[in-house]
Amino acid sequence: MDKNEKVNELARRRGFLWPAFELYGGAAGFYDYGPLGAPLKRRIEDIWRQFFVISEGFAEIEAPTIGVEGIFQASGHLSGFSDPLTGCKECKEIYRADHLIKHIVEVPDALSNEEIYKCIQENEIGCPECGGELSEVYEFNLMFKTMIGPGNKMAGYLRPETAQGMFINFPRLLRHFRDSLPFAAVQIGKSFRNEISPRQGVIRLREFTQAEAEIFIDPRDKTHPRFDEVKDIKMKFYSQAAQERGEPEEMTFGEAVGRGVIAHQTLAYYIARTYQFLLAVGVAPDKMRFRQHKSDEMAHYAADCWDAEVFLDRLGWIEIVGVADRTDYDLKAHTAQSKVNLSVFVNFDEPIKRQKLVVKPDFKALGPRFKGKAKAVGEALKALGPEELKGDKIRVMVDGETIEIESSLVSCESVEEEVRGEEIVPHVIEPSFGIDRILYTVLDHSYYEDAVDGETRAVLRFHPAVAPIEVAVLPLMDREELVFPAKKIQEELRGLGLRVDYDTSGSIGRRYRRNDEIGTPYEVTVDYETLEQGTVTIRDRDSMLQIRVPLGQVADKLQALLCKALKFEEAGTMVGPAKEE
Ligand code: AMP
Repeated sequence: MDKNEKVNELARRRGFLWPAFELYGGAAGFYDYGPLGAPLKRRIEDIWRQFFVISEGFAEIEAPTIGVEGIFQASGHLSGFSDPLTGCKECKEIYRADHLIKHIVEVPDALSNEEIYKCIQENEIGCPECGGELSEVYEFNLMFKTMIGPGNKMAGYLRPETAQGMFINFPRLLRHFRDSLPFAAVQIGKSFRNEISPRQGVIRLREFTQAEAEIFIDPRDKTHPRFDEVKDIKMKFYSQAAQERGEPEEMTFGEAVGRGVIAHQTLAYYIARTYQFLLAVGVAPDKMRFRQHKSDEMAHYAADCWDAEVFLDRLGWIEIVGVADRTDYDLKAHTAQSKVNLSVFVNFDEPIKRQKLVVKPDFKALGPRFKGKAKAVGEALKALGPEELKGDKIRVMVDGETIEIESSLVSCESVEEEVRGEEIVPHVIEPSFGIDRILYTVLDHSYYEDAVDGETRAVLRFHPAVAPIEVAVLPLMDREELVFPAKKIQEELRGLGLRVDYDTSGSIGRRYRRNDEIGTPYEVTVDYETLEQGTVTIRDRDSMLQIRVPLGQVADKLQALLCKALKFEEAGTMVGPAKEE
């Protein structure tokens, strides 16, 4: 078994990830999170909340997963959200055409369907299953369609991203943030894409979880007030230029902005926060890079986009997060579709003086001529722009009637006015995280093997902050005198909100091994010394060292160890490597 197979086997066997609907034969692209997978996922999401909701002050909302047609007409998903498909003429198996040429073209996304088909033909690529000839390449729309209510009157679509929920609530969010920029809203929730042939576990799902932030900014100011906090962080940037050279470039965020590698501070700041979040959940820094989209790969709405990519065993470099500068594309598209103005009035720092042309109708002449209508005619003339005043005759519409007036009855005057601000359409910076892919990466990057007593020990080296079980309480033997104090410890730890497992089955060595394999950072063992001396052992998963700690201090010590406020070696009396059998 290679590492990829081992991680997947472990994930299935120990209840992290289960292929869904197995009882009924299964369906590709759907997974269940089991008793260990669900808490791992929840903890990753909670750290994301800590970063983007609590620390940044963004507003978390929750919109329906089904959307009405107008949303996806505006967003472009109905017309353009598709992937290239090809099929085997012999066995009829269906494939993502761009995936079949990944080993030949570095960025197949940038190719047209004709170009992909040409590449397939020129390289004599056949069906991966049976070697048969592949069909021409055509587009397959990834939206799941349904009908809302009876009578097939209203079409609905399962959302392919959470982002639209934030865009279409823009006016209410703006009010929530007291009408001023910048502000941001986030959602963590399910998205649905009818992927062509999902074959890579939770890396490509038909129902998956996204965590997205839409940050609405004033396009005239792309600096960020917290940029100083991240400017000295070093990271590997795989910019368009670096891709030409074939080697990512390590530099600080300050340098990246200074040298124009990243266009502006705000985009750089959120890339840095993304990097910090990925490190916090346990993505390995040496298997991570940020790759800038090439200009022909960039989505139609984006001015710039950087993907966090991770190296996964067997799968290679995979995108797990995209951070895009979406400009004003989305708000303008929804304004055009919904006819609701999605702009913000922003005040200038100082009001400015501006010359303005004012239309002055000759009311003395209009009065006798239009009598009761004269006022309305005058107002209609005032509303005209300078262009419409050109020529001998001017036309205005009053009460549905077109009225013609000689231009001599209207004059124009330039006056000075004070302007406090202007209407602008905000730009959007969007960090978009795929939680399932991040979770799988955490499994892959945490997986580790060493040799203990001539046997292979498999360990998930989870950060304590994501571990689905934080402490296992293990009575040395299943005897009343040990079970009683062990259960008391378990109760106390659960009372403090820790995720605790209690296990009496099998030898102590086997129980340690089982907990190593699911990433439990610490085990508390209750033995006969507990009864004699009032102490227990705490075992450290990674070093397998043990310390003895008085019963009354177990909870405090564990809490300090889990949040890394205390070094293991300093938490108690060292008793040497654990007896592992
Ligand atoms: P995208 O909108 O395609 O840029 O997707 C944003 C993020 O969602 C990606 O970085 C992935 O982590 C995740 N994602 C996209 N499609 C899928 C999928 N089919 N299955 C799992 N995660 C996905």
